[in-house]
Amino acid sequence: MVNPTAANSTTHSTAELEALLMQRPLTDAELQATAEAAANFRILPDATVIKIGGQSVIDRGRSAVYPLVDEIAAARKAHKLLIGTGAGTRARHLYSIAAGLGLPAGVLSQLGASVADQNAAMLGQLLAKHGVSAVDGAGLSVVPLYLAEVNAVVFSGMPPYTLWMRPPANGVIPPYRTDAGCFLVAEQFGCKRMIYVKDENGLYTANPKTSKDATFIPKISVEEMKAKGLQDSILEFPVLDLLKAARHVREVQIVNGLVPGNLTRALAGEHVGTIITAS
Ligand code: ADP
Ligand code: MG
Repeated sequence: MVNPTAANSTTHSTAELEALLMQRPLTDAELQATAEAAANFRILPDATVIKIGGQSVIDRGRSAVYPLVDEIAAARKAHKLLIGTGAGTRARHLYSIAAGLGLPAGVLSQLGASVADQNAAMLGQLLAKHGVSAVDGAGLSVVPLYLAEVNAVVFSGMPPYTLWMRPPANGVIPPYRTDAGCFLVAEQFGCKRMIYVKDENGLYTANPKTSKDATFIPKISVEEMKAKGLQDSILEFPVLDLLKAARHVREVQIVNGLVPGNLTRALAGEHVGTIITAS
C-alpha cells in the first residue's frame, strides 16, 4: 500500500506509480505505461558518441589511426565527443583460445573487455597532448567534467557485463560487444548521435570484402535490414534491437574512417556512409 505521507509529498503520477508498483507484477502493462509517463530526460544531449573500430581501424595501426587522431583533435573544437574503442583481432584470438578451453561467454566477455581497454589506453596516449584523457569507465563519474573542459573523452567500448554477460542462444561468443557498448552509452546518456568509424563506406548488400558485386546501401531501417538478412553484418546484431527500442538515439551512422574527412563530415551532419534508422 502507498504510504500517504510519501504520496502527498510527491506528484500525482508518482503516487499512482508507487501504488501500481506495490500491487502489480513489474511487467504489468498499466504499470509500464505509468512508468513511461514522465518526459524523457537527456543526460548529455550535446555529446556525440563515436566508436573507433578495433579490427576495422585500430588493428591497422599508424596509417589508419594517426589521421583519425588529427581529425578528432580538430573536431572536438566544435563537437563534444565520447570516443569509444573496439576490440578486434586480439579479442578474436582470445575468444578462439577460451572457447577451445570450454570457457563461458561471461569469461570471454572479460577477455574481450581487456582488449578494448588496451585500445582505449593507446588512443588516450595519442590524444593526451590535446588534453584528452581516457577514463576507466564511461558511466559518468568524471565524464561530464572532461566534456565540459576539453570536449572529449576516450572510453573502452565493451559494455561492463563481464561475467554477467547474457549468454548467446548458441555458442559462447559474447553477443553484446563494443558496437553495443558504445550504442548503450549514447542511448543511456541521451546523446545527439552515434557514429561508427569502420573500414568500409557503410552497409552493402553483402560483405564487400568477400562479394565483388555487393552494392552500397546509403540508408535503411532495422526492419529492412532484417528482411534482407543483413542483421549480422556491419554491426553486431543485438545493436539493431537496441536501436529499434531506443528513446533517444533513433539512427546510427557508419562511416569509412580510412577516408580522411569522413568523420568530420559526419559530425557536421553530412550523410556520408550508411544511416540505419530505428523505424
Ligand atoms: P569493428 O572493427 O568496428 O568491430 P567489424 O570488423 O566487426 O568492425 O565490422 C566491419 C566489417 O563488417 C567490415 O570490415 C566488413 O568486412 C564486414 N561486413 C560484413 N558484412 C557487411 C556488409 N553487408 N556491409 C558492409 N560490411 C560488412
Ligand atoms: Mg566488430
